[in-house]
Amino acid sequence: MEKLYLYNTLTRKKEVFKPIKKAGVGMYSCGPTVYSYPTIGNMRTYVFSDLLKRVLLYNGFKVKHVMNVTDVGHLTSDRDEGEDKMEIAARKEHKTAREIANFYFSVFKEDMNKLGIISPNLWPKATGHIKEQIELIKKLEKKGYTYRTSDGIYFNAGKFKRYAQFAKLNVEHLEAGKRVGVGEKKHKTDFALWKFSQSDSKRQQEWPAFGSVGYPGWHIECSAMSMKYLGEHFDIHTGGEDHVPVHHTNEIAQSESATGKKFVNYWLHGAFLTFDGEKVSKSKGGLYTLSELEEQGYKPEHFRYLCLLTHYRKPLDFSFEHLDAAKNAYEKVKRKILELKKQKHKGSDGTKSYEKEFLSAVNDDLNLPLGVQVFLKVLNDDSFDARKKLALLEGFDAVLGLGIKGMKEEKTKITADVRGLVDEREQARKQGEWVKADLLRKKISDQGYSVEDTSSGPLLKKG
Ligand code: AMP
Ligand code: ZN
Repeated sequence: MEKLYLYNTLTRKKEVFKPIKKAGVGMYSCGPTVYSYPTIGNMRTYVFSDLLKRVLLYNGFKVKHVMNVTDVGHLTSDRDEGEDKMEIAARKEHKTAREIANFYFSVFKEDMNKLGIISPNLWPKATGHIKEQIELIKKLEKKGYTYRTSDGIYFNAGKFKRYAQFAKLNVEHLEAGKRVGVGEKKHKTDFALWKFSQSDSKRQQEWPAFGSVGYPGWHIECSAMSMKYLGEHFDIHTGGEDHVPVHHTNEIAQSESATGKKFVNYWLHGAFLTFDGEKVSKSKGGLYTLSELEEQGYKPEHFRYLCLLTHYRKPLDFSFEHLDAAKNAYEKVKRKILELKKQKHKGSDGTKSYEKEFLSAVNDDLNLPLGVQVFLKVLNDDSFDARKKLALLEGFDAVLGLGIKGMKEEKTKITADVRGLVDEREQARKQGEWVKADLLRKKISDQGYSVEDTSSGPLLKKG
């Protein structure tokens, strides 16, 4: 069997993937913080974990995939400073934190569906696992890894000797600036496991624990929920690259201190989607949502295709120019697939060698850009038997997730009115009346259509 290589952040190397148990791979993905609309940056990270899961399935592994929902405890700064994002959003929108969470979680799931991302097997919510988080903190307390300050229970990172290893952190450098932001903490790298509610502000979400009232820190939820559903030692953990120095470093520290075992075998991180070369995020703003792209006439498939064209460990600099290129390429693929569905011609059978080529591309640390090239090579191989070719491409699509099986001609009901405008515009064009033709194009577009001038006449499209 062809080996699957994955780049492991733990070792900074591509390694052959070997699951702990033959029966199934345990995979945990840090899920969304549901306080606002997910951006296309967030969605790039979930397309990446979807591709990883699809490649595992393609290789014949069974996958148990868990993705958490952060509905409490994620502060405005990943390093325990600032306010809970959920509480801020609830105040701003005059809603309960639960309503905020439910709304943005449903938007997130909708975006996942639109992008062809396979749903995880489990969606545990942080607020639904308070008991497990408290238990884990108590375990750490018993082992002497925690201390109490006036605002919470903290993890003593100084006691976990490997703390700096994962992110190759320069702790000495961090400690040198200790006075900044340390407060009552013993080390700059210590982090809150549990925060006490402050008496001067009323929180919506708080629970009695540790002789006070409070809420869990953001990091503890992922350790508690991943271990609950996948065991203390499991195969794969994913997230965006920003999670390496804080969130995942802290997850490793608290989980391994609590269990005395290695937490996760393979850590995979997706590079950021950048905008004008800048790292952008939901909280900083300035980044599009999927719906905003749709409003501008793009389909979710165009964005997925764009993601496929850049390797997940490389930054994807978003621009409409790149999205347009992905859109055109995707639409061309779609036209060819629809033609292929009608064809029956007999021809050669390249299945075996192409299959091998595709598998070695995707098994080389998810080299999807190369996988897409193989896909296109097959699609454009005119000597290939039509039926066999379609079957092979549908097989590849189990990884690409473009929805080839469901691709159909889009039937648009064109009103007589729009048809008349198109004819009138064609007439104007033929007579060189360009201003009039442009005016008519605008009228057509106001009716929700676009017209493309092709060698065989005007082509009318919805949107
Ligand atoms: P959040 O909802 O803020 O907790 O983030 C959800 C996921 O999106 C995390 O795994 C982040 O690492 C990831 N993420 C945030 N911003 C970006 C971005 N611009 N590009 C790619 N991934 C991102
Ligand atoms: Zn997490």
